[in-house]
Amino acid sequence: MSKKNFKKFWKLGRRDFSTEHFDINPDGELVIREGNYQYNVLDLVRKFGSPTEVFLPFVLEERLERLFDVAEQEMKRHHYRGKFFYHYPMKVNQNREFVLPLVSEGAHLEVGSPNELWLVKKLWEGENFHAKIRVLCNGPKTPRYINLITGLQSQGLAIVPIIEDAEELRLLKDFRGELGVRINLQSKVQSHWDKKIDRFGLLEEEILSLGKIRNLKILHYHIGSQVERENDLLAVLKEALRAYVKVRAQNPSLDTLDVGGGFAVPYEKKPMYTVESVLRRMFSALANASAAAGIPHPNLIVEWGRHLAAPAQISVFKVVATKVIPKGIAKFWYVIDGSFMTDLLDTWSIHQKWHIVPVGHAGAEKRHRVWLGGLTCDSDDKYADAEGYVLLPRIEDLGPGEDLYLAIFDTGAYQDSFAMHHCLISSPAKIVLQNGLVTMARKRESPEEIGKMFGW
Ligand SMILES: *Cc1c(COP(=O)(O)O)cnc(C)c1O
Repeated sequence: MSKKNFKKFWKLGRRDFSTEHFDINPDGELVIREGNYQYNVLDLVRKFGSPTEVFLPFVLEERLERLFDVAEQEMKRHHYRGKFFYHYPMKVNQNREFVLPLVSEGAHLEVGSPNELWLVKKLWEGENFHAKIRVLCNGPKTPRYINLITGLQSQGLAIVPIIEDAEELRLLKDFRGELGVRINLQSKVQSHWDKKIDRFGLLEEEILSLGKIRNLKILHYHIGSQVERENDLLAVLKEALRAYVKVRAQNPSLDTLDVGGGFAVPYEKKPMYTVESVLRRMFSALANASAAAGIPHPNLIVEWGRHLAAPAQISVFKVVATKVIPKGIAKFWYVIDGSFMTDLLDTWSIHQKWHIVPVGHAGAEKRHRVWLGGLTCDSDDKYADAEGYVLLPRIEDLGPGEDLYLAIFDTGAYQDSFAMHHCLISSPAKIVLQNGLVTMARKRESPEEIGKMFGW
């Protein structure tokens, strides 16, 4: 196979798979390109060790810019007079390195807990924010949460609590700022998270029975994450638009529809729907529904979290042991120096599949079918692709003293805050690549740090 074919084989260099920044160099090593800068991942792990998470802020920034560009283009096409806003859902990745570049590129924020809002407060008080940033607050409004919200509002931050039940509306009756309300839609979508019955938000008739809500600005829904079908995204939007028209008849201050998250990531590198197509259809539905109802075009908020964040990080592990599998669809266990359970928890919780590429020897012609195992003593700490195995270079083909490293793609969403300490495995180091420079954001966790968490 030629070099070009290896790039194709490992599904690199493709924007539809969000691997456009990745390539294989002539030595079979994984490289990352940022404009004319190039980073050699093998050199990086040789220098910083493994396991290491490699965060790519420029990927995050580019994806947000593209989202704004596409929205602008589609709004022009539909002569759309509402505005478009991106609110970054902080739960997707609360690391400072993630949040700051997004805010600097024009993202607003969405928080789901008082502790996330506390981080926003720190940024706000440190004057890291433009006065125009807006924060939406989801999640149960505990007394501490409400105190934080009202405190920040009185300091001049544009902060919008999203009401999820009638009791929250009562608790916020003295709130002077703008409000949102979360609607519990009846449409179902194909997604792990769209449960038959959920506890979030108010039914349309419940919202209408509340009568006029003072300063109601935003109708919000969030139907689930990783929505598999484009048509589902559109069907829920249309249901929400019908509700929007009715709620607005009662609340003329309502001017914004917030469609939450749900835009899927092509983790398995199979063709998927695009931002272009979804936004085109969304703005068309928005324009048509407003024309039919004779109302102004609503502003549109999207909170697509994993779509932006997942491709902005890869996790690199070293294969530290191999073991023959006597009977199985795969031939060998490759044990990595980290853990699927502790650091890529979705592997365990929802059987997440990952795109895995060898960091060196990517040009090897011969590959083994393997199962990957983690460092914990847990039989659940393992990974295989949908086919039932992973195809990786053969250890016996490595030169003396050479190691095999694996890059797991799209690890930027959710995995960091899910990380746990089964068997007290250390969290990986985190490095940041930006403007040709490599910086260390977080050291690999030491035994002392872990011991402390457990009272040692
Ligand atoms: C989790 C969440 C999101 C992000 O969802 P993604 O699937 O990552 O896009 C957005 N909005 C709300 C309210 C959420 O709870």
